[in-house]
Amino acid sequence: MYLKRLEIQGFKSLADRTELYFNPGITAVVGPNGSGKSNISDAIRWVLGEQSAKILRGAKMEDVIFSGSDKRKPVGMAEVTLTLDNSTGIFPVEYSEVTVTRRVFRSGESEFFINKTPCRLKDIHELFMDTGIGKEGYSIIGQGKIDEILSSKSEDRRLIIEEAAGIVKYKNRKLQAARK
Ligand code: ATP
Ligand code: MG
Repeated sequence: MYLKRLEIQGFKSLADRTELYFNPGITAVVGPNGSGKSNISDAIRWVLGEQSAKILRGAKMEDVIFSGSDKRKPVGMAEVTLTLDNSTGIFPVEYSEVTVTRRVFRSGESEFFINKTPCRLKDIHELFMDTGIGKEGYSIIGQGKIDEILSSKSEDRRLIIEEAAGIVKYKNRKLQAARK
């Protein structure tokens, strides 16, 4: 399972429809300061269901919509589509690819799709739950996070590793069972 494709339109500085193709293995995004590298990772966070404008480096959700430049007018909608390879069947769908789309309009209205079928944000969260990919997963390690992991107390660091390994849910279930 890996990130195959990202389509971005009207999201932050990526006003034009932009398609990025990835292969298995390592991909590096390089470019001058302010050219939009972090906006690409913000687009990934956003389509995975991020609801915090602050985490997306804005003040409100509307800030993800292209707000215009010297040469271009603002646009009314941001849209991001992320395609993951599902040949290993990690997602419980019959397809060899999983595509997730998110749209937001200036009116504040949002739309979500899984494999082009309209769905709720909750469905996207559930799709990624226990896969290590969702917005709570460790598929995205932000700037400062490495420092946080290295400088945290050993118990906190253990929690991070347990979360990344996906065993927290079993610990929680064990706790709940013990209480009964
Ligand atoms: P650095 O190397 O400094 O980390 P970067 O390549 O990661 O830079 P980004 O932070 O991705 O750069 O892009 C910043 C640019 O995106 C800024 O020029 C900012 O004005 C622009 N930008 C952010 N949000 C919007 C928006 N809603 N509309 C238009 N442009 C935007
Ligand atoms: Mg950056």
